[in-house]
Amino acid sequence: MHLQKFKIKSAGKTDIGRVRATNQDSFLIDEPHGIFIVADGMGGHAGGEIASRICVENVAEQICAHSEIFSLKIPKKHPDPNISLALSDAINFASSRIYEHSLEDPSLRGMGTTATAIKIVGEQAYYAHVGDSRLYLVRKNFIYQITYDHSLVNEQVRAGILTREEAEVHHLKNVITRSVGYQEEEDVDTSSFTLEKGDYLVLCSDGLHGKMDDEELSQLISTWGLAAVNILVDTANSRGGEDNITALIVEVN
Ligand code: CA
Repeated sequence: MHLQKFKIKSAGKTDIGRVRATNQDSFLIDEPHGIFIVADGMGGHAGGEIASRICVENVAEQICAHSEIFSLKIPKKHPDPNISLALSDAINFASSRIYEHSLEDPSLRGMGTTATAIKIVGEQAYYAHVGDSRLYLVRKNFIYQITYDHSLVNEQVRAGILTREEAEVHHLKNVITRSVGYQEEEDVDTSSFTLEKGDYLVLCSDGLHGKMDDEELSQLISTWGLAAVNILVDTANSRGGEDNITALIVEVN
């Protein structure tokens, strides 16, 4: 049984944008199990689409298949490290599936995807993350970027080589340093935090977060709640829509 202290509602939207011929982003919402995932695929031919789809489906399936780890037997406030480990395993299960699939078809060689996944258990939001999609927390009109971008430019910002402003317009800003499926296994960032009533969790691909700053994102979500998914996608499109756009919002009440 998946005891949940909060009432969870969610909304998600993905859009091809205004330039690309295909939408390589995928997202998954499973409210009854508290699972929310965004994946942004990459790879020529149909690779990106296939990789992100295999990813979201397999991660969700793995979480449901190991429900004994993810179910809350005794309501407790403290995070359970076994859950973080199981989430990381779920991402790597998906990674090996994508990798195997890529070996079967030469046109899919080298495909991969980002993956940012949340699993809510009790009062805790557990997440697992690879790549440059993002998880944000909007709490009392403040916004916190929870995940760290695994991208070339972000690593250079952290090392003091680039400024944040330089990174935003850098020609290599789409290059990611970790991905799911490019190889059998990848390092997965995992952690968790305690939810509060009124929180919003936001998952998005870089086609969205590359088009607006954190403050604007926070303001739109604080004002519009779940209905902001449409506004976010429309805004990214009105600013060029050069990339696929995905926004997923989880409301905690
Ligand atoms: Ca993208």
